[in-house]
Amino acid sequence: MRQCAQHRTIAVMNATSVNSNANTSTVIQVAVPVPLARVFDYDCDQAPAVGTRVQVPFGARQVVGFCMGAVPTPAASEFKRKAVSKVLDEQPVLSEPVWELLQWAADYYQHPVGEVLAHGLPVLLRQGEAASYQTTQAYQATPAGQQLELNELRNARQQQRLLAALRSGSLLRRDIVAQEYSLSALKALQEKELIEAYQHQPSAERDWTFAIGSEPLQLNPEQALAVAAIGAAQQPQPYLLEGVTGSGKTEVYLQAMAEVLRKGKQVLVIVPEIGLTPQTLRRFQKRFAVPIVMLHSALSDRERLDAWLDAKNGAAAIVIGTRSAIFTPFSQLGMIVVDEEHDSSLKQQEGFRYHARDLAVVRGHKERVPVILGSATPSLESINNVSQKRYAHLQLTQRAGQARPTRHMVVDIKQMPLKAGLSVPLIERMREELERGQQVLVFINRRGFAPALLCHECGWLAQCRRCDAYYTVHQRQQQLQCHHCGDQLRIPAQCHDCGSTQLVGRGVGTEQLEQTLTELFPDFPVLRIDRDSTRRKGSLQKHLADATENKFPLLVGTQMIAKGHHFPHVTLVAMLDIDGALYSSDFRAAERLGQLITQVAGRAGRASAPGTVVLQTHHPEHDLLQDLIHNGYAAFARSLLRERELTQLPPFGQLALFRAEAHEAQHAQAALQAIADQLPRHPQLMVLGPMPAVMERRAGRYRYQLLLQCQQRGLRQQILQHSLPQLQQLPELRRVRWSLDVDPQDFS
Ligand code: ADP
Ligand code: ZN
Ligand code: ZN
Repeated sequence: MRQCAQHRTIAVMNATSVNSNANTSTVIQVAVPVPLARVFDYDCDQAPAVGTRVQVPFGARQVVGFCMGAVPTPAASEFKRKAVSKVLDEQPVLSEPVWELLQWAADYYQHPVGEVLAHGLPVLLRQGEAASYQTTQAYQATPAGQQLELNELRNARQQQRLLAALRSGSLLRRDIVAQEYSLSALKALQEKELIEAYQHQPSAERDWTFAIGSEPLQLNPEQALAVAAIGAAQQPQPYLLEGVTGSGKTEVYLQAMAEVLRKGKQVLVIVPEIGLTPQTLRRFQKRFAVPIVMLHSALSDRERLDAWLDAKNGAAAIVIGTRSAIFTPFSQLGMIVVDEEHDSSLKQQEGFRYHARDLAVVRGHKERVPVILGSATPSLESINNVSQKRYAHLQLTQRAGQARPTRHMVVDIKQMPLKAGLSVPLIERMREELERGQQVLVFINRRGFAPALLCHECGWLAQCRRCDAYYTVHQRQQQLQCHHCGDQLRIPAQCHDCGSTQLVGRGVGTEQLEQTLTELFPDFPVLRIDRDSTRRKGSLQKHLADATENKFPLLVGTQMIAKGHHFPHVTLVAMLDIDGALYSSDFRAAERLGQLITQVAGRAGRASAPGTVVLQTHHPEHDLLQDLIHNGYAAFARSLLRERELTQLPPFGQLALFRAEAHEAQHAQAALQAIADQLPRHPQLMVLGPMPAVMERRAGRYRYQLLLQCQQRGLRQQILQHSLPQLQQLPELRRVRWSLDVDPQDFS
């Protein structure tokens, strides 16, 4: 990504504290976390350094903001200026590179700097907490607890498990015990004086030296070439590591990281979703005997702050986190890895809409560290960056170890009878595979029992009262649920139109598939993995582990299981319905479908048995599908890229999307029309809309969009930069919720 053409004045950190005369107070500018693209002036006795947090009154509230610098000659104001209530830090709280990254991002994504800066902080720091570790109560085994024969607790499993964990040296604070163990077991062990409480003082001194935990694998020639290229680079640069699923990308990360860690430098690893990659995490932990911290949404606020501090002061060697981890400060950053760089969850879809992959590249450039973007199915953006020579290209074309490539089988389901979406040829293939002791995975992207409730007599469909969408039938809970607004109600007994009681589910969801598979294959237990079956904490991990160990020969799942997880015993993967994406209005639909099919296919045949992928479709002759199957993702993606070039869509054209929503459709539309009218005319700028979103009404609000398409990024940035201050003043915008999305990924 190139830097945008215009340069807003950027507050430079550590540029000495602002001049201040001890007697007269100064005026400082403060960025506060409010959706306004400006800073506010406050009186302050002694101006703090740029980048320190200050607590200030804002309206009736107290908020935490950042000092952005002094106002050299404050203008006389008719209002009395308010004063800073409290200076919260002695030094700037963010590291300089992160401070600069956040300012760059505020500028690029045209998002209010106060909100962006706040986004860069752990929650506790946003709330004004000190940026330091805190002593907490933790537990340890007493000498009696150390010596006890664990078997003596065999009738109290929870106590046994807790004591074993404490004896192995795990740090268990009360909140962790409550979450992962049991507080009553804790109490019982305390009463028996087998364990005791103590004050745990996390320390910033924790030093680490590089040590290998387990020996690295012998690299194959392609892997060796990739690792050598990264290590030998004169200039740090971004790499696209394009490797088919199972080609050993993770091994390349690990060995490239080893070189960095050996020099005492830290590594940041960004992954799409932590919950889905426990296998990968375990590989990191096994390979390196260095402190690894994880940043993810299941952490408590305090754990998150501690992990953040560990990264900032160098105590953590490796930080693994989801997209917001890109803003973690490091004392000695040496490398950034972005795994599954094509994954759309790397883009934040609300508020400050940044793309963690793109920011990783910006950050790597600023901090002069290599950035490895890995994927079996790279985004068209990254492929284009390779052909533009902005990224170096590393390829792994062979599956590592003994795994063989998967075969494709397309089943034309036109006029075929289907049983819960399964065709007869598919059912037969499944039976063969199961009887040979192999595992079968059926992929369907709909959770619930059926995607709609239909009246068999009159054709009425139960529609959400607040959205342009049908309710999903959840039979087990006897509920209708809207997956868009969360609305829930009991399944009605009668049709709302004709009163008939003949209500049936239309279409197939995971719950129904699970039920049908159980009936079809009574000897083979079925495991369903979707959002409903993994709501309880830890249940996803358990399901994934059970699936990996082949405890369930039949697996049913949504796209949750399409991501980076290996099921070594799966030899047959079926995708029941891929037609929706073949004819979607979203220009990214084809790219996403290609990625999904390839990723799902990659779950098969990981170990030595070869894998087959069955694709059911009504359009077996579709060009996209044929291209993907016969030529593979890499070629498929490159032909999509040529189409994008012809239509001037990303990465060739640059997009920005204004969204507006309101209870009245015309308010949303009028707001975007007003924006369209204000935008400058330019031969290279195309403005499309206002038009209704694909789902026009959601949660009772009407949603409209206005799309800007521009040939050059610099021009788009200039136009937005120039127009936004006026646009924000438009009276039509006061009646709506609106937002701007730079490089939008999602048009739903
Ligand atoms: P990817 O991340 O590309 O999907 P992984 O790194 O998970 O692939 O590797 C797939 C499997 O191949 C893993 O079980 C891994 O241990 C194994 N593997 C990777 N590299 C090698 C190698 N050089 N020799 C033997 N096995 C390997
Ligand atoms: Zn009816
Ligand atoms: Zn709804």
